[in-house]
Amino acid sequence: MKQQFDYDYVIIGSGFGGSVSALRLSEKGYKVLVIEKGKWYKAKDFPKTNWDLKKWMWLPIFKFFGILKLTVFRHVSILSGVGVGGGSLVYANTLPIPSRNFFNSGNWKGLADWENDLKTHYATAEKMLGATKNPKFFDADITLKNVANLMGKGDDFDAPNVAVYFGEADKEVKDPFFNGKGPNRVGCDFCGQCMTGCPNNSKNTLDKNYLYLAQKKGAQIIAEKIVKIVKPIENEKEGYEIFYENSTSLFQKEKKSIKTKGVIFSGGVLGTVRLLLDMKNKKYLPNLSDEVGNHIRTNNENLTLVTSRKKDVNFSKGVAIGSIFPPDDHGHVEAVRYGEGSSIWKIPIFPMVYGKNIFIRIFRLLKELVLHPIDWLGMYFTKNYANKTVILLFMQHLDSTIKLKRGWFNLSSKVSSGPKPTPFIPMAKTIADHVAKEIDGKAFMMSIDILTGAPSTAHILGGAVIAKDKSEGVININQKVFGYQNMYVCDGAAMSANPGVNPSLTITAMSERAMSFIPKK
Ligand SMILES: Cc1cc2nc3c(=O)[nH]c(=O)nc-3n(C[C@H](O)[C@H](O)[C@H](O)COP(=O)(O)OP(=O)(O)OC[C@H]3O[C@@H](n4cnc5c(N)ncnc54)[C@H](O)[C@@H]3O)c2cc1C
Ligand code: SF4
Repeated sequence: MKQQFDYDYVIIGSGFGGSVSALRLSEKGYKVLVIEKGKWYKAKDFPKTNWDLKKWMWLPIFKFFGILKLTVFRHVSILSGVGVGGGSLVYANTLPIPSRNFFNSGNWKGLADWENDLKTHYATAEKMLGATKNPKFFDADITLKNVANLMGKGDDFDAPNVAVYFGEADKEVKDPFFNGKGPNRVGCDFCGQCMTGCPNNSKNTLDKNYLYLAQKKGAQIIAEKIVKIVKPIENEKEGYEIFYENSTSLFQKEKKSIKTKGVIFSGGVLGTVRLLLDMKNKKYLPNLSDEVGNHIRTNNENLTLVTSRKKDVNFSKGVAIGSIFPPDDHGHVEAVRYGEGSSIWKIPIFPMVYGKNIFIRIFRLLKELVLHPIDWLGMYFTKNYANKTVILLFMQHLDSTIKLKRGWFNLSSKVSSGPKPTPFIPMAKTIADHVAKEIDGKAFMMSIDILTGAPSTAHILGGAVIAKDKSEGVININQKVFGYQNMYVCDGAAMSANPGVNPSLTITAMSERAMSFIPKK
């Protein structure tokens, strides 16, 4: 007898890759279900500031079901998004196309003409996400511009494309992006709150484009459910059984299963790699490549926070990332901000100190404490910390990879190629020093970066990379999983080189490309 499926495709995770897949598969006539671990968030539900940990952070053990998750490994600390819309809820909207180097390096090098192949898909992704050049610079951007000029890079300083609706501030209009088929939108008022969730319906999160349109085409989305098992249906030639349970209830798990012909892994690097590793280890998907979890890239980045001593500054105004410039051939730096009142980052930071081992760094921290106690300790008592702080995000496309593997209780990391990722990047320090001078400020770094010597990143990538065969990677050039039918990876885990810039546009374009190869039902 022919197997009856509940769905044609089940998509695990509703971030960039998952949302593209949901829309394109629904348009092709497939019956689609998206399963998302996090909550549905509407504009009114977001926290007003990041002090509201319950709504900002994802920490189920404390019943915090917010939009930002922090995961600490030995070699990297990872910030990622959770909720319907994945990382789009918490991200800083910035959508650059990486430089040529990205398309000709890493694991996918030479397997296709990536730069040309992806061109039309980048254009579609930009249109769908509503990428628009940031039209207004505010104080943090002007500071970065001054530093670019100082470094002889003034001509390269620019406003990035961002996923924001810049209509008349605070005015609601009919959908301006999809000929009226999308939801009503409101013009951005440059409040700077993008990374705690836009309270104004101005940010083009995925629930306002791909997911919204996918639902109109019949896709179903269920939130607050986590997929735990994916395995072939027993004694059948095709199809998978997906087991999922409640993710926001500690005790009432209500386990359920459904049958589907195809599956798309879109849980982001942490979700997808964890699930694939588990399925391989438990022998539910034994044909998966041994390379699952390998070739993970951190975008080689550094986060430095520079706080001004002046009383009358306001760096909180503007979209979360308002400006960008490349200080050298490998890197990009962006001026980032949180909205007024979102000052929680002043807690987990220490003055910026570099040094090749922990002893040198601790010594330099102690020296800071003795020489500049007011600068350091005073910062914790500063009022309007967010207003006084420019966050610098420095990213490079230099390559190095780490590996995630399954330990007894959790995933653990190890370096697999190139130098181990480091938060101590000389160019990032040079820029931070310049910015500190510009605003009469002091530079700080994440304390965990200083103590562990491992960087923090909001752009974790890879782990299920593209390769010519199973011996070198997990998916083929169309992002189909080696060894299985109707199974794909569409998310950051599929990114197979280091972009050196914010990756969401590329994840979207790559997913568009992957979906274009699936025929209509
Ligand atoms: C603070 C911050 C700022 C950022 N700013 C930018 C920026 O300006 N520009 C940019 O390009 N990028 C930015 N990023 C990075 C960007 O958010 C990610 O690169 C992007 O979201 C990754 O997309 P994805 O498709 O891999 O999956 P994600 O967007 O990470 O979505 C994966 C989803 O899957 C869900 N999930 C995981 N496992 C399961 C499971 N087993 N069952 C069900 N659901 C599951 C997760 O809850 C999540 O919602 C930022 C990130 C952060 C944290
Ligand atoms: S600046 Fe404010 S209104 Fe504009 S997109 Fe960001 S959060 Fe929304």
